[in-house]
Amino acid sequence: MEKINVEHMLAIEEPFMKAPVEQLKRAVRQSQKQAEREAAQVSAALDGMAGSSSSSELGPEEMDKALGGLIDRLKTLKRKLEEAQHEEAQLIQRSKQRATDLSELDRFESAAQPEFQRWCRARLDRVLVDYMLRNGNVETAQRLAANSKLEHFADTSLFALVMATERELREEHSCRGALQWCAENRSALTKVESPLEFELRMQEFIEMVRSGKTLAAIVYAKRHLTSWSDTQLPRIERAMMLLAFSSTTQCPPYKAMFDEARWAALASDFRAVIFQLFHLPPQPLLHLLLQTGLSALKTPACVSGDPAERNRDCPACQPETLGRLAQGLPLSHHVHSNLVCRITGERMNEDNPPMRLPNGHVYSLAALTDMAAELGGQVKCPHTAQVFALAEAKKMFIL
Ligand SMILES: [Zn+2]
Repeated sequence: MEKINVEHMLAIEEPFMKAPVEQLKRAVRQSQKQAEREAAQVSAALDGMAGSSSSSELGPEEMDKALGGLIDRLKTLKRKLEEAQHEEAQLIQRSKQRATDLSELDRFESAAQPEFQRWCRARLDRVLVDYMLRNGNVETAQRLAANSKLEHFADTSLFALVMATERELREEHSCRGALQWCAENRSALTKVESPLEFELRMQEFIEMVRSGKTLAAIVYAKRHLTSWSDTQLPRIERAMMLLAFSSTTQCPPYKAMFDEARWAALASDFRAVIFQLFHLPPQPLLHLLLQTGLSALKTPACVSGDPAERNRDCPACQPETLGRLAQGLPLSHHVHSNLVCRITGERMNEDNPPMRLPNGHVYSLAALTDMAAELGGQVKCPHTAQVFALAEAKKMFIL
């Protein structure tokens, strides 16, 4: 009976549990801050009004108007908090649904159970939804999630924010959305020591220098760059030097600062940081799943660089597709070697022994026998195209 390693299986899906919890933490903190800020401002305004009424600075009409303003403000706050509460309830519901789906794993006793197979099918759909959302195929991801009843596994709004902000940086060359996000998440960014906000500010500064707005650039630097002097002083000094150069300069450090490729780098930085804060791995979960399989298959032959060494049935041997995912993986540890026939892709053993042709190439007996039946007792080495009689092939013994 094939046992299921629940712990290992859940390790890959951990981000599905962490992401909504992180989103919830952030949403709660934000609405709490907003409520505290508004309450403090309203109470300060009330204190002010109480003071001015006792000194009769404000007449009853003005007082009425001011109170009306405060009431409107509190009503807006109430509406915003209700919206936040709705969002928080959705995130809690989503976490619960995900936990229920994942906890089903505990019920299965064997990997052969049809219920387990169904669970794995749903897992494949979950990781495909994650893969497509990361690649911006939002509509397809939503359709798959709806068809497989997995809407609660699709972090659509989070990925939509990533896509929109990346597009703004990459295509519109604007830091607006990214800076707003940084302001909303400043304490979390400080905790992970992310320089993203500094890099965005630096970019806005560079764009001012590029368009010749020197004075505005100096004012901007004083306001937004100098606060980073504890950690970024050399970069700030270089930024000040940039004022003396034009955007067509060939001087290496300043040429690099004016390089438009910085926008694409900022977009990648933004994605990396937001994924870090929400505990999402940088690579899609689909890749992680595939890599666990590939790491069990990868042998020195897969990476030898010699196409003749590759096995057509080995996924790790395909340099353009799955082999790319296997690139950074260690070689698998095989205690017993398996000999696989290069023609049929089948295992060679006592029943189907390896046969050595006079040119040194080895194929399975079954493959050579089939070939000899077609070629009138002769075999053709697929590697060198040399032709031999089947009788010339020598049986080899596996020790
Ligand atoms: Zn291989």
